[in-house]
Amino acid sequence: MEKLSNLINFKKKQPATDNIERWQVNVSGIVQGVGFRPFVLRSANKYGISGFVLNLTGEVRIEAQGSANKLISFVNDVWEKAPRSAQVNDLNINKIELAVDEQGFSILPSLPQHGSKIFPSPDIALCDECGKEMLEYGNNRYMHPFISCTDCGPRYSIQKSSPYDRDTTTMTYYDTCESCSNEYKDINDRRLHSQTNCCHHCGPSVSMHSLYHPELCVDNLLETDVRRIKEACELLENDGILMIKGVGGYHLACKATSSLAVLRMRQLKQRPKKPLAIMTKNLAEAYKVAEIGPEERRLLTSPAAPIVILNKRKDSNLSTMLAPGSEKIGIMLAYTPLHQVILNYFKQPIVLTSANLKGNPIEYSNKKARERLSRHVDCVIDNNREIVNPLDDSVAMVLKKQTMLLRRSRGYVPESLNLDFTSRPMLACGGDIKSTFCLSDGQKAFLGPYTGDLDSWPNFKRFVNNINNMRSLLDIQPTTVVHDMHPHYKSTEFALSEYADQTIAIQHHHAHIVSCMVEKQLDENVIGVAFDGSGWGLDGNVWGGEFMISNREKFVRAAHLRYMPMPGGDQSAKKPYRMAGAISQMVKDPKTACGIINTINISDHELSFIEKQVKVGINTPYTSSMGRLFDIIAAITGISREISYEAEAAIELEELAGKDIAGWYDLDYSGKNLTIIDYEPMLTQIITDISEGLKTSHISAKFHNTIANMIYEVCSKIRDSFALDKVVLSGGVFQNRLLLQKSVDLLEGAKFDVHFNNMVPINDNGIAIGQMAIANQLIASKDNQQCA
Ligand code: ZN
Ligand code: FE
Repeated sequence: MEKLSNLINFKKKQPATDNIERWQVNVSGIVQGVGFRPFVLRSANKYGISGFVLNLTGEVRIEAQGSANKLISFVNDVWEKAPRSAQVNDLNINKIELAVDEQGFSILPSLPQHGSKIFPSPDIALCDECGKEMLEYGNNRYMHPFISCTDCGPRYSIQKSSPYDRDTTTMTYYDTCESCSNEYKDINDRRLHSQTNCCHHCGPSVSMHSLYHPELCVDNLLETDVRRIKEACELLENDGILMIKGVGGYHLACKATSSLAVLRMRQLKQRPKKPLAIMTKNLAEAYKVAEIGPEERRLLTSPAAPIVILNKRKDSNLSTMLAPGSEKIGIMLAYTPLHQVILNYFKQPIVLTSANLKGNPIEYSNKKARERLSRHVDCVIDNNREIVNPLDDSVAMVLKKQTMLLRRSRGYVPESLNLDFTSRPMLACGGDIKSTFCLSDGQKAFLGPYTGDLDSWPNFKRFVNNINNMRSLLDIQPTTVVHDMHPHYKSTEFALSEYADQTIAIQHHHAHIVSCMVEKQLDENVIGVAFDGSGWGLDGNVWGGEFMISNREKFVRAAHLRYMPMPGGDQSAKKPYRMAGAISQMVKDPKTACGIINTINISDHELSFIEKQVKVGINTPYTSSMGRLFDIIAAITGISREISYEAEAAIELEELAGKDIAGWYDLDYSGKNLTIIDYEPMLTQIITDISEGLKTSHISAKFHNTIANMIYEVCSKIRDSFALDKVVLSGGVFQNRLLLQKSVDLLEGAKFDVHFNNMVPINDNGIAIGQMAIANQLIASKDNQQCA
């Protein structure tokens, strides 16, 4: 709200008069590619103000001349009535000399300026106006797959350089026809200065290609042929799979109500169980299959149009194979005109998942997508508008009325995050799972697009490409490169290979906690609870069930889960029953050990092998991971033996938990300065519950209660000793809604001030921003020490 006070102060100093004045107004934020200049022009005309507006690199400059009271109203409009996708962060007003002989108000050509900040806009979902126009029979953009305006359309995905203009995007290859040029120049048209403006005659065009249905093949569909898309859509009805080019890359689509189609899709993607998201034509269609609250509705219809995780309606006709065993469903609304065209013909929800073969990032080039996937799909619907910055769909959910972005990509990247400190030019490389990076300079940080796991070479290549693209688009030259402490992470190896003045390693869980602190602008000591699958610990063990006292520079470990062996390392993360087998080796009570072995159905041979591995310690790291504890409980209760995607066991455990079940299991707390949380009493009680035939849903609920209770107990103990009452919850385990909700309720009930990540992902997709903030703080402290 800094900017508003600037305006109010200016108003106070500037009593409304009829004196003619000239003001220079510099506006920064997301003000390019969102219809901002046309909006300024219209506002100026409304008040009869003369002058001009132009894009500098990274900000918009306005010079406005008129009576002081009119200028105040004008600037007020600029602040309060900006277009829906614009984000005005700062507005600076200076009185300057009057211009003579100025005629009216105009938009001047962009002026690239060296050394100033640049803020490209994320891609924006189809707006209501354009959506209406394209369904209007007789409109010259009827069924036009590339309809857009200053309020909607692709942005970052097609932007090659800055500042944003038609020439710097891949729309530069299409010359506008006379009618589109006229709209571009008409101040009363909503397409005034729309850089993506085009129509059937002058814009990009759709092509269809099929190895199996030659009759569908057509290059560059004409206006009159758009109906042919309908023929391709008929394949969906017969359980076919289409590959469709979207904004950030290609998707695979199939009928969401057909289990056969969904199974085909799962086979193609080699994705046996991981939930698949769907797309519906509009909100009304989404309501038919899911329960949607007000915050969720706002998210679904927001300009970013992410996938929102919702509760499935009991009477929905969606295939149960979309998310086996789950009551949830990820839904996004049709966010491009081509999606609208397709769903206008095929009047049902479709599965929409990124087009890529296992271990590859989302496909985005026409040539490669066709080469790699044509033979696996029934028909390809693509177009000749080139994508330069590939993006996956973003994923979000709502908890306690707060948005939680779980995957930050299309629609959010490269939106900046405002910092409450000044960052050096920096690159933070994040981690290897759900990878992304953070570029920062001054008071802005930019999280890059989600890129998947870096242990796959194609993903790693994409990660490096994304860094290079965004670095040049934002014009940030990092002098410091930050990375995770894990010496074998690909992101670490990359960071160390980068040319920089210095590189800094940051502990994984500290980065999780600070990722939330930066977002919530907390700058003090807090109680940090970081629960996740794994992260390199300071003692050489794998951490993941951590309580710490943390600020933005340092942390002290206050408590953690008792270490457990992980025979075979990552092998055990993929096979929960192996973790359970290993833990049976370390529990003291033989009856519990026996009980665990009996529940997991493991062969004597495998068990004795695990026994040896643990005893001798070959390839057996020790871990305090909360993710692994969830795995063990899932294995013991028979919910999950092996997993096919990250966190599968934990997700199934959460899904199964009965609602409104009270009661919990016992834990032991020992140690003075560093509390060790021992789960052995809980394991004994769970084995007893199983032998007494207690339902799995009951056991799972009690287990969730136990962990929430543990958080409350340990935080209370830390509060008593250190007088801290701010708690930050972060790490991938908190994507578990049930656990997060229970934990927050318990803590808030005890008057703790509780924070968790919102727009910075709570999982590893968000740690880069934490790394960046810690590194800045470390450098600042070192500089201060040297000065002292
Ligand atoms: Zn529009
Ligand atoms: Fe993590």
